Amino acid sequence: MKKIQEFIRDIHDFPKPGIVFKDITPLLSDSEAMKECADALYDLINDKKIDKVVGIESRGFFFGTLLAEKLKAGFIPVRKPNKLPHNTISETYALEYGSDALEMHTDAIKRGERVLIHDDVLATGGTASAVCKLVERLGGKIVQCNFLIELEFLNGKDKIPKYPMASLLKY
Ligand code: AMP
Repeated sequence: MKKIQEFIRDIHDFPKPGIVFKDITPLLSDSEAMKECADALYDLINDKKIDKVVGIESRGFFFGTLLAEKLKAGFIPVRKPNKLPHNTISETYALEYGSDALEMHTDAIKRGERVLIHDDVLATGGTASAVCKLVERLGGKIVQCNFLIELEFLNGKDKIPKYPMASLLKY
């Protein structure tokens, strides 16, 4: 049994001074740790039925696709502006460092579909909150917001109070 926490590397002052970046690449590079992490994230969902897993660019894609496969659900990428080729809807959001917008294909989710949102890190919650808005605009039902890492001191949870939330590692 590997300790997932030991595969998360702190990078100080990246991408800006004062930020401690949680680097998950050591976790991704170890097949056993990666499998254990995917299994543990899956356990957080607790047998709930999910139609679509929405993964947030870009680090939400790694475990998001593994979760979708386990849940027998489809995978929907949410991407930075002008990356998705078809018709999109867009939401702007604030980051722990800067601000940006996120887009989703308009036909990604059908009205009433049960959605799991996944990302690697919940920091201030601005990103997750914007993605919840995208999913709701398309009529999706958010079953859970699911994170590998929660930076509890940033209170990101408070930005997504309406939705069930689960995280594997808390700092
Ligand atoms: P936020 O909108 O502040 O919750 O930021 C969450 C998004 O930014 C996620 O997509 C993360 O990948 C990234 N992020 C924010 N802070 C960190 C951090 N300290 N380490 C790694 N990624 C981060």
